[in-house]
Amino acid sequence: MVLDNLGSSLRSTMDTLRGKSRLDEEDVQEIVKEIQRSLLQADVEVGLVMDLSSNIEERALNEEPPGGTSARDHILKIVYEEMIEVVGESTELPLESQTIMLSGLQGSGKTTTAAKIAWWFSKKGLRPAVIQTDTFRPGSYQQAKQMAENAEVQFYGDPDAEDPVKIARDGLEATEDADVHIVDTAGRHALETELIDEIEEIEETVDPDRNLLVLDAAIGQGAKEQAREFDDAIGVDGVTITKLDGTAKGGGALTAVNETDSSIAFLGTGETVQDIERFEPDGFISRLLG
Ligand code: GDP
Repeated sequence: MVLDNLGSSLRSTMDTLRGKSRLDEEDVQEIVKEIQRSLLQADVEVGLVMDLSSNIEERALNEEPPGGTSARDHILKIVYEEMIEVVGESTELPLESQTIMLSGLQGSGKTTTAAKIAWWFSKKGLRPAVIQTDTFRPGSYQQAKQMAENAEVQFYGDPDAEDPVKIARDGLEATEDADVHIVDTAGRHALETELIDEIEEIEETVDPDRNLLVLDAAIGQGAKEQAREFDDAIGVDGVTITKLDGTAKGGGALTAVNETDSSIAFLGTGETVQDIERFEPDGFISRLLG
């Protein structure tokens, strides 16, 4: 059954429906309230929470449970379907030659994620290369190089160069024999015109097959604006949400995919290159509702 790992509060509300074959308005409102509370606690954007919960409420009140389905299973199915409608399946990542560009704010976990994704592709039998274009954050070159070493993948960067666009161009050339190119870009503390201009230029040069936005699970309500800005600048094809090993539930990812009409590609679950998982909707939805 889907949504087996619901949080205790929602589960006990659902459990009060056991034995019932129909939902009354009070039941539905109670459950919708619980769902709203869980999603807001998980940092899903307020407007999205309202949309989701009103869809769930309307369907739960108007749709007849199919014969033999209990009220509890009926509403669980509706909740799951409405959540899946937003979150979708994981971003398609064919196991073939491609260029992936990572963007996001400073500290979101881009450099770590670049090495993780490279490691992931190498385990699938491809030859990835990480290209580090961050000339802004001190230490980013060393960190990226070290992580690429940990992942045992090719690496290109230039600690003395100042022009990230040139590094990107040179990096693609220097790693021609790799089949998956992962281009890491500079972040800033906040969305600044300078960052957006730079990322647009790198994007034009790199011409990636996939633009992945890297978001910290603790991003909170800021996910919407961030996702919008990056989407307007370069188009977001997928989201990677990092630091899911912490306490944050990562509802910002739901907000971001809804805002950019994209999907989630990977989840980051720790600081080492192996701490990456391909996104899988069921577990993530349960986590948000937990
Ligand atoms: P960047 O500025 O976007 O390149 O971010 P970094 O890759 O340097 O990551 C910022 C910090 O977050 C570093 O200390 C990373 O070790 C840490 N970090 C990145 N991803 C994860 C993750 O999934 N879990 C945890 N616990 N830490 C992470």
